[in-house]
Amino acid sequence: MTTPGSGSPERAPWATPRVAAGFTWIASEVGRTLQASDLAPLASHAFTTRDVSFRNDRAEDDSRRLAATLGVSTDQLIGVTQVHGRTVRLVTTAAAAAAPGEAVAGADAIVSTDPRCAIVVHAADCVPILLADRQRRLVAAVHAGWRGTCAGVTTAVLEAIRELGVSPADVVVAIGPSIGPCCYQVDSRVRTAFLGMTPDAVAWFTEDGLERWKLDLWQANADQLEAGGVPASAIHVCRLCTADHLETCFSYRREGAGTGRLAAAIRLDGSQTQERGAAGVERAT
Ligand SMILES: [Zn+2]
Repeated sequence: MTTPGSGSPERAPWATPRVAAGFTWIASEVGRTLQASDLAPLASHAFTTRDVSFRNDRAEDDSRRLAATLGVSTDQLIGVTQVHGRTVRLVTTAAAAAAPGEAVAGADAIVSTDPRCAIVVHAADCVPILLADRQRRLVAAVHAGWRGTCAGVTTAVLEAIRELGVSPADVVVAIGPSIGPCCYQVDSRVRTAFLGMTPDAVAWFTEDGLERWKLDLWQANADQLEAGGVPASAIHVCRLCTADHLETCFSYRREGAGTGRLAAAIRLDGSQTQERGAAGVERAT
């Protein structure tokens, strides 16, 4: 196990905030990125930082650089129009050919079996989640704010991968930079919505004044993943709070709607898939 932010061969030359064990800072085409050590052998992936913003005037260039980081062209970087729901977009070799580079409206999660494509979600405080299965058959990227978490978007992803024949027991998950339980104050409306979903939700809230609570979206998503069959030991939370680290992250709460977005992107390892001869998956060109 490497010490967070230090001790790895790719040690970053710049100051980086402390993150949980199991995560490493990497220099890339998009500047500082965070990688999960257990995910790295399974799939190329990156949690970006403030070094790229994806703001309107920068979106095209930043997406091009992110695509390069993942080893794909810009039109092979597949996103979704995020709507805080639980819809999952499936990217397969056939589907990608039909709509290259096109963002499908109304989805907050992407599951890909296509090694030619990288998939991406964007967030600023909302929780970005990346997932890969140990047999290298698929990867997933998830955007989970409070509404998506409450709607069970991670549970929907696990249902989608089961339908593809992959057991949640075989996946590794990384939960990226997002607003932490230290800073994410919510009102009774949010708590009531969660308690309507499951009584277990009571554990994710800590009282924080009159009719106010701190919500732990990291735990809420980790618990959903575990309830869906992912081993607790395979769920890695970087514990980097966006609101506390504006030198590295963007925070909607702290900076408003005009702030930039952090990206979380992942790509199935095509060469490994090819070696394993997985049905229906072609070698990346
Ligand atoms: Zn915080």
